[in-house]
Amino acid sequence: MTHEPVIDRSTRWPYADGELGEFSYSRFDHPTGVAAERALGSLDGGQALLFASGMAAATAAVLGLAKPGRTIALGEGCYYGTTKLFELLAPWGVRFVQFDQAGPPPDGADLVWIEIPGNPLLTVPDLEAAAAHPAPVVCDTTAATPVLCRPLEHGVDVVLHSVTKYLGGHHDTLLGALVCRDAERYAALRAVRMQTGAIASPDAAWLLLRSLKTLELRVLRQSESALELARRLAAHPRVVRVRYPGLGPDPLAARYMHGGFGGLLSFDVADADAARRVETSTRLIANATSLGGVDTTIEGRFRWEGDRIPPGLLRLSVGIEDVEALWADLEQALAKA
Ligand code: PLP
Repeated sequence: MTHEPVIDRSTRWPYADGELGEFSYSRFDHPTGVAAERALGSLDGGQALLFASGMAAATAAVLGLAKPGRTIALGEGCYYGTTKLFELLAPWGVRFVQFDQAGPPPDGADLVWIEIPGNPLLTVPDLEAAAAHPAPVVCDTTAATPVLCRPLEHGVDVVLHSVTKYLGGHHDTLLGALVCRDAERYAALRAVRMQTGAIASPDAAWLLLRSLKTLELRVLRQSESALELARRLAAHPRVVRVRYPGLGPDPLAARYMHGGFGGLLSFDVADADAARRVETSTRLIANATSLGGVDTTIEGRFRWEGDRIPPGLLRLSVGIEDVEALWADLEQALAKA
């Protein structure tokens, strides 16, 4: 019989006869977090650490895996916030260069950072080429989730998740995770988490445990609907371009993603004005940021990413609603493009 996990909100647990027990202070570890880490670790095939957000996890990965003056090679078109984090850390000696993640990382890089698939350009990295590089490799697997891709099995050292997205899945918890292939890196990153106080709360960890029960169902449904919508969008006269790994022949997507290509896609309309008209015309689909929830969201990325991306790029995170209802909503909104 399985038991519902209990949320233990204690911040300290008494010593036993003066000796440290499994738990002592909740900045180090807490029972709800450890239960959620075990569940996530078994999905990814490694040892998981939960953080207060995806960016808290990313910060810990930089502090634990890079050093001042060393260079991070970041996949082009990966999550915008990651580039902003690296820029923020420049005064502490973090340098980064960008590279086409479909090929090998540049020589001389000290840390490789890739994303499967990249948000919002949906490129797929060559995991084996990255693993063949001598530097440690971090793979942000937020958009694929362990349901569709397990990068640790392809030689990646650390998987990063914004658990806020698909793993959480309901737009109701901010949470991040690192999952490590080897015990030494796990211990180093756990020490960073402990000393920086970046651990997730017991409530957030409990919400992850709740969400994992439906993860596979949700992600498979989202992937199926996203593929259908990507195909229909590609044939729409107002759509200039669709980005989705399942659309064209993408040998890397076929090699590393199994069971579907995820619920995230992006498409371009003529310009930023047309993108704004589309995003403000949807009725069922929420015009909001973030992704990965059961409710579909759309947003023009121009407001965040400036000229890094085409001005008419709309990012669509497909939820679990009826796909015909989603298409009807997109069609009526696209009529205004
Ligand atoms: N990685 C990816 C791919 C993301 O999309 C995001 C957030 O949008 C993050 C990391 C950061 O996660 P969080 O917002 O949970 O800090």
